[in-house]
Amino acid sequence: MKAFYAEEQKRHDPRAFLSSGAPQPNPEKPERVERLLAGARSAGLTVERPRNHGLGPIAAVHTPEYLDFLEHIFERWQRIEGASAEVIPNIHPIARGGSYPASAVGQAGYHMADTACPISAETWNSALWSAWSAVEAAEAVTAGAPSAYALCRPPGHHAFADVAGGFCFINNSAVAAQELRKDAARVAILDVDLHHGNGTQGIFYARPDVLTVSLHADPVRFYPFFWGHADERGEGPGLGYNLNLPLPRKSGDAAFLEALATACQRIRAFAPEALVVALGLDAFEGDPFGGLSVTTPGFSRIGETIAGLGLPTVIVQEGGYLCDALGDNLTAFLTGLGSSKA
Ligand SMILES: [Zn+2]
Repeated sequence: MKAFYAEEQKRHDPRAFLSSGAPQPNPEKPERVERLLAGARSAGLTVERPRNHGLGPIAAVHTPEYLDFLEHIFERWQRIEGASAEVIPNIHPIARGGSYPASAVGQAGYHMADTACPISAETWNSALWSAWSAVEAAEAVTAGAPSAYALCRPPGHHAFADVAGGFCFINNSAVAAQELRKDAARVAILDVDLHHGNGTQGIFYARPDVLTVSLHADPVRFYPFFWGHADERGEGPGLGYNLNLPLPRKSGDAAFLEALATACQRIRAFAPEALVVALGLDAFEGDPFGGLSVTTPGFSRIGETIAGLGLPTVIVQEGGYLCDALGDNLTAFLTGLGSSKA
């Protein structure tokens, strides 16, 4: 199996982060890349650099207003006297139906869901290359590879069509799914990250051609709080094409695999022609977020179960934070998926 990653993805180095209101170091560190690269190589993957795919595949799921904001907001922010070193919002609209603000501060509040996605000088470029890794992996699968891995960093599944959030700017999983749609009539996205894939859900919520399924820690007391509940089922033509499977905090392998079986049953009934796995490794028992208790062998079982779907599969890296087993967990997942056969 091939892995895709570009060095530019490492330059984004966010500093600011608030945890329950308290300033903490941002956990979405560039060092994650080294661990994940080592984990991919241990599973026998070869790492290639993606090509520059331009804005087209990204603009297919994000609004032009938002992409223009992401590209230029850092430069504009620097012109504000006394502003923070990174772009961080401090005011948000209660509803988004009103007028679009002209000011950088207003637009930051409009396009950023929370304070966990600070934008620095390198963010736009890193996010572009992260998305292009996803595009390249989708192209490889469309061309006939059974599977491909996109080492996407910064991650993407909390990014909506026009809103950043939770370390995410461009929704790489959505970009990959949309790219697969060029050749596949129906695509499923299976999100196994600790956190609900709210941005991905939002992008496809009214669409019946992309099924979104997410397993995650119950948002009733966990990020992203406002999304990820079982009664969110899609809307309009997309009603019935979104499935959320929230799990009680600290759920381990058995509960996770049971929910995964339900997810796979729904995916089979949708009969997709391709699959995107939004692969967060932060459901790990030793992850700093501490939300669920999946073990390293558990990730191998998750990979095996997904391989059982028998679908062309693009794996898109989402969360998973610095801990000793981060690389091993990726190796376990990819080995379970059967990377040696691909
Ligand atoms: Zn996560």
